[in-house]
Amino acid sequence: MPRLRFASFAVMIAAALPAAHAAKAPAPQCPATWPSQPDAWVAHVEEVNRGLGIPPDYAAKHNLVPLPEGNDLVQAPRDVYGRKVEMVAPAAAALKRMFAAAARDGVKLQTVSGFRSMNYQTGLIRRKLKNGMTIQKALSINAVPGYSEHQTGCAVDLTTPGVPAADGSFARSEAFTWLQQHGAAFGFHLSFPPGNKYGYEYEPWHWRYIASEPAHSR
Ligand SMILES: [Zn+2]
Repeated sequence: MPRLRFASFAVMIAAALPAAHAAKAPAPQCPATWPSQPDAWVAHVEEVNRGLGIPPDYAAKHNLVPLPEGNDLVQAPRDVYGRKVEMVAPAAAALKRMFAAAARDGVKLQTVSGFRSMNYQTGLIRRKLKNGMTIQKALSINAVPGYSEHQTGCAVDLTTPGVPAADGSFARSEAFTWLQQHGAAFGFHLSFPPGNKYGYEYEPWHWRYIASEPAHSR
């Protein structure tokens, strides 16, 4: 899809958001489609987090803003275990093109995880709490429900043969070097580099589709 269409779409969404909420929300990217009542969604997110015992100021303290949940999901390349991975359509299409371009350069990229709903994220944390983990520890491993880029359907965790899923050693792989050189050309950007403003650990495997893909001849 042409870039212009996304740009005007983003402006439309920003204009549709109530002012108070727009101040909290990030610039809409990917197609991060907000529901028709964004305040109701944010209230729901806050209620879920209260239910988990997450301090009300946790998100703000970590520079996190609530994100909408992706819809119109389509299949992205299956994960390393052969399971289905879903993303929003433009992100999935760009990912497929990127995988093909990497393959032509002799680099094998694989998915680990794409879209994860807020409910799924909440379940992950609930299980950890049930097993005796503190909420602080749980949140050092899993993003706060309602704030994970994975719920937008725009983010993907990647790996390559020989590297365990979501492992820091991915940063030393040939695949990571390739992504650093070519990812942006397909609209994929590293969300959590070292020293990121969210206080998240460095996640070399986590890439987010941001812009519509520029014309690419590869
Ligand atoms: Zn991730």
